[in-house]
Amino acid sequence: MECTDREGFSDTARVLAASPRNYGPLDDFDGHARITGPCGDTMEFWLSARDGLVERVSFTTDGCGPSRACGSMATALVEGRRVEDAAALAQRDILDALGGIPPEFEHCALLAADTLKAACEDYRERGARGDAESRAARTSCGSCEKTDCPASARGEHESDEEFEDRRQLAARLCRIRRTLIVLSGKGGVGKSTVAVNLATALVLAGKQVGLLDVDIHGPSIPTLLGLEREKILNSEEGIVPIDLGLMKVMSLGFLLPSQDDAVIWRGPMKMAVIKQFLKDVVWGDLDYLVIDSPPGTGDEPLSVCQLIGRVDGAVIVTTPQKVAAVDVRKSVTFCRRLDVPVLGIVENMSGFACPKCGEVTPILRAGGGRRIAEDMGVPFLGSIPMDPKVAEACDDGRAFIAHYAETATAKIMRSILEPIAAQYDAEDRTAAAHPQNDKEST
Ligand code: ADP
Repeated sequence: MECTDREGFSDTARVLAASPRNYGPLDDFDGHARITGPCGDTMEFWLSARDGLVERVSFTTDGCGPSRACGSMATALVEGRRVEDAAALAQRDILDALGGIPPEFEHCALLAADTLKAACEDYRERGARGDAESRAARTSCGSCEKTDCPASARGEHESDEEFEDRRQLAARLCRIRRTLIVLSGKGGVGKSTVAVNLATALVLAGKQVGLLDVDIHGPSIPTLLGLEREKILNSEEGIVPIDLGLMKVMSLGFLLPSQDDAVIWRGPMKMAVIKQFLKDVVWGDLDYLVIDSPPGTGDEPLSVCQLIGRVDGAVIVTTPQKVAAVDVRKSVTFCRRLDVPVLGIVENMSGFACPKCGEVTPILRAGGGRRIAEDMGVPFLGSIPMDPKVAEACDDGRAFIAHYAETATAKIMRSILEPIAAQYDAEDRTAAAHPQNDKEST
């Protein structure tokens, strides 16, 4: 005699116990689980799903009639439903749908619900693994989902070593959302000062920022941020940059034994060290990497642009004098040749800011930066006056716009630098609102 012949079983339970629905394994499935309950019965569920809906579901059990009835009813209840709903199916739902089984067999419904839930979880995990695998298949750098990841295709004449090198570089760079370079035609015009304050403005806008000093012959970022005594550590992942919370900083200055040491390197060596800064430094996920380049249009900015492949924007710093302004033209031309969008020109040391009231007095002829910008068809970002407090902040190793935030010059500097992040934020919002256009443009 079958146990379901006893009192307390509904007709539905008896029918399903005798001829269970959806019994037997599925050949092709997306989720599977097997559980042995405290009663010693084992249940096994298989399911296949499409677009998150259970398409097919089946089970087996070595238990007797009530076990078959409960498993069967569980499959019937979730066919065509969302996988999340299937995972949420409860013991009570099965018992109610069966319409009655004796209390001593109710645990069979619990085992059915638990096994089905585990099969749904297995389906989700397989989906997550599959996504990761398909991402990895799309891009071999392993850290992005970009279909145009620089490491996704191997060059025709590239050796294993070269490809691996490029892959590692891409693995770092693909985690950096945007790269900005600060250029100047001449030295001493305040390029590093602008780079530090641009990075700080981005941090104040809540961004994760990296600041990379590629001025190999005269690295001044450690001094401008008061980090002269810092030394760089290595980890298993690579060179660890100086971490200031939201800003990570790297400069050759950290690697030199003394500040008085001079570096005498030719082009290929400079390229090698810049590559190391990009490839071996553990930058992690950054919104912006701000690169302070040495003056001119020599090996360093060229290496940066070639290695990064796509620099998102350049800020060009000049002073009002005609002789400095002439070099700005070269910087603009350099950007154009390398396809780097010019965010604009900043005219630094333009007039003198009174240390008492902040009023700016023109001491030399100003306006050269604006004229060149107009002439060359690039934006003019604004003029920063000469202010003793700027020099003081630099000497003390403090970011001027954060430390002297209330001064008139800091407000001017912010009005020049803050719109840069705001402009990119606006671009991101537009891209998020129209993802298709974004995909097409990348
Ligand atoms: P660069 O990177 O172009 O060589 P720096 O940013 O190192 O120039 O600046 C050179 C010097 O000029 C630094 O001592 C800095 O403090 C000072 N300086 C830069 N901008 C200003 C300014 N607007 N007012 C006063 N001093 C400034």
